[in-house]
Amino acid sequence: RLNMFSNKKYIKSINANGIFDNTYETKMPQTVISKAILAHFEKSQKKPKCLFIGWDGCRADAMKYLIKSDDEKISGANDTAVYSAISALKQNGGLYVTYVGAEKNAPQETSTAQGWASALCGRWMKEPWRVGIKWSLDDDCPTVLKTLSVKGYQTSFSAIWPIHFDNTYKNEIDFADKNNLNQYYCKFETDSQLYDNLKERIQSDDDFIFGIFENPDMNGHGTGFGDSNYRYIAGVCNLDRLSYKLLTEIKKRNTFEDEEWLVVIASDHGGHSTRHGTQSITDRTTFLALSKPIEELIK
Ligand SMILES: [Zn+2]
Repeated sequence: RLNMFSNKKYIKSINANGIFDNTYETKMPQTVISKAILAHFEKSQKKPKCLFIGWDGCRADAMKYLIKSDDEKISGANDTAVYSAISALKQNGGLYVTYVGAEKNAPQETSTAQGWASALCGRWMKEPWRVGIKWSLDDDCPTVLKTLSVKGYQTSFSAIWPIHFDNTYKNEIDFADKNNLNQYYCKFETDSQLYDNLKERIQSDDDFIFGIFENPDMNGHGTGFGDSNYRYIAGVCNLDRLSYKLLTEIKKRNTFEDEEWLVVIASDHGGHSTRHGTQSITDRTTFLALSKPIEELIK
């Protein structure tokens, strides 16, 4: 009964007027992410480029601290932040409610390996990859990095969690090596090293850049996922400003006028208490921010 009450409260905060461009009821599967990215590369009038910033473990209801709602009881009297990446993307693009963890009849873990792989491959994982981390994507399940690199684009994947490199993307890394693809995998220890690297990747002319920041997930496991934990929310707000700095790096490029950039910010799962992985709505519900309205990319 308590659960039903808190679910209702959670959905109400997601649906507060002005934050998301769709609703909890019309949430989209996270698999739209890779479809939107590939469509951007096909449809761009200028040279297509994409920056995809991953916010590991950021709950969808944290967006109410970044975007003002008409309902002040939900977001406070909180004018739209000038240095917010999410606000900047929403202005010309959109902010959407999405879900992870696949469909009810064949669920998958709401965890990091499954979450990012589904976002990058545009599909739910097959058996037995729906649980655990002891698997590596095979040829039947290419990421957007592989698809784009095979077409001749330069792509990069920057992250901290070792499982990405040791397990999930191991086969792709080997394939890129063997076939001399311009596909780079870069491992770091901290979010600030990762930030410096993403700045470098933007300057070094990658066509598709993906990087995963860990702080929301680390704060969630450390002190609790949720909108009442100020440490968790502070981590999300700081990451929003750090991401905004990356948007300004794009505009500094000498060739910016000849390029068409899609910026994507999304999370791989939510969380509850100090964990995630379950089918609870706070674990399953995620967000997707795009610099173009999604209707312009996929119908
Ligand atoms: Zn986690």
